[in-house]
Formats: sequence, structure tokens, C-alpha cells
Amino acid sequence: MNHEMKKTSNEDEQCLFPDCSLKKVENTDYCARHGGARSAKLQEKQRVRAYNLSKYKARLDRFTESSTITDLRDEIAILRMTLEAKLNNLETDTELIAHAHGISDLILKIEKLVSSCHRLEKSMGNFLDKNTVVQLGMEIVQIITKHVDDSKAIDNVTSDLADLLQRITDARTTTEID
Ligand SMILES: [Zn+2]
Repeated sequence: MNHEMKKTSNEDEQCLFPDCSLKKVENTDYCARHGGARSAKLQEKQRVRAYNLSKYKARLDRFTESSTITDLRDEIAILRMTLEAKLNNLETDTELIAHAHGISDLILKIEKLVSSCHRLEKSMGNFLDKNTVVQLGMEIVQIITKHVDDSKAIDNVTSDLADLLQRITDARTTTEID
């Protein structure tokens, strides 16, 4: 980056270094001679890092949303809460008997979902849960960005890593549930 060393009479635009009347480098408090350029470069680097991380996170979030096992667990939780609410509303035996059909229906649905969930988890064997994989990926990227300065390299690494995780998770979500 090339920063001009121009004098300015506007105090707001002047370098904060004592007695320096050169123009500040954009988004910094100092002119190019007094560290402004370096500070701008650092800011740029941090911006690229933050951008890489958020881009990577957005990609991972997209396919976490379709996590089958998470969906199943959510559905089970919802059905269980519905069942609990229903049971809590029934105060007498007569009411219980009147709603017996709906309740046993709900219990059957929960049972079916729970066994689907178990089958799916079993078929995944010792694989990590998808959310754990994504979390692990995020932390790996954070470690890399901490130690590597080359933003192009970081971009390539995160992109390949996201591809890899996508391949792994795609292979697993194609597992049949019935
Ligand atoms: Zn200066």
C-alpha cells in the first residue's frame, strides 16, 4: 500500500505525532511517517482474518442447519413437551380416559422417533456429532489464523477444510431414516 505524505492545515486530518502536520493515513491516527501506514496494514490484516472466519462460519452454519440428528432430537423434545402439557391439563380419570387415544398416539410417535434417532446414531458409529465437528473446525481455523499471516493461504486452508467437513457430513446425512 502506498500512502501519500501530504501536509494539511485541517487539524482533524493531522497526524497526532507532536508537531507533525502531515495527513493521517485513512482510519488511523498517524501519518505514513509516524506509523499510520503500519497501523493501517495491521487493521487490514485483522479485517481479512475476521472476514475469513465469518465466511467460514457462515458456510458451516449452512450445513449444520440441515443436521438430521439435531432435527430428530428437536422433534422428540417438542413431542415430549406436548405430551407433558397434555397430561398436566388432565385432572380427573374421566378426562384422562377421554383423551387416552390422543395420548397413546403421541407416545407411539415419540417412541418411533426415539428409535429412529437411536438407529441413526448407531449407524454413525463412533463418528463425532455434527455440531462437534463444526466446532472443532472453527477452532482449527482460529489456531491457523493466529499463527499464519498469509491471508491467501488461510483462505485456501479454510476453504479446503470446509469442503472436507461438508463431504464428511453429507456422507452421514444420506443415511436412511424410516
Ligand atoms: Zn506524522
